[in-house]
Amino acid sequence: MTSKSEWYEIKKLDDNVSLILERHISADWRCNIWHVKGRDVDLIIDTGMGLKLITDDIAILSERPVIAVCTHSHYDHAGGLCQFDKRLGHPAEAEIFANPNRSAVVANLLEASIVQRRPYDGFDADRWCYEPAPLTTQVDEGNVIDLGDRILRVVHLPGHSPGSIALWEEATGTIFTGDAIYDGKLYDHLYHSVPEQLCESLRRLKELSVKTVHAGHFKSFSGDHMKTIIDEYLNGQRSMLCPNKIR
Ligand SMILES: [Zn+2]
Repeated sequence: MTSKSEWYEIKKLDDNVSLILERHISADWRCNIWHVKGRDVDLIIDTGMGLKLITDDIAILSERPVIAVCTHSHYDHAGGLCQFDKRLGHPAEAEIFANPNRSAVVANLLEASIVQRRPYDGFDADRWCYEPAPLTTQVDEGNVIDLGDRILRVVHLPGHSPGSIALWEEATGTIFTGDAIYDGKLYDHLYHSVPEQLCESLRRLKELSVKTVHAGHFKSFSGDHMKTIIDEYLNGQRSMLCPNKIR
């Protein structure tokens, strides 16, 4: 089922997982906002740019208790985090969530063409930065987010950014990876990216029995395809850097 609001679009997938997209952000840049329905509480994984109130547009977010977790602090993932009362993220980026500035959240990469419809009067892509969103709970490797009938474990996967995390649901073989991996060229060239750490994080990912990857951008894919992407990256493909720099 697909339903549309003016700004956000929600697509229901299997396993009580839905994908929320910002309709007027370029498909090359908008992040995947994941909604996981639990028995007691729902989980939002990443929050988009937050240029409109997501809780106004997506009814289920105001009807049920919800925890928001950001896989990392970049503007396309954490812009809407301030809209939620329960805000989870990794301590390595706690300072950025609390005191965001354009270079720290890589909003200096935001080109005007990425935001295809003006969200409000006075919006200026050359100056915009998201509102501070201090974490209410810091989560690190091994911590568990319990939704009542489903458990997601935090996996720390630094490299794209120092506090990048994934949420791993072992029971269903589903992992939400943020920008640690997606089906595209991996951004390993940002100011706080460390390609060697990303290689190590991807090697760790390969050890998990993953069936489905819900990534931070683009389409979801199988665990087998995840391994192919990882091998391609480790072989020097899919890097934004020149290959010999990451060996
Ligand atoms: Zn990112």
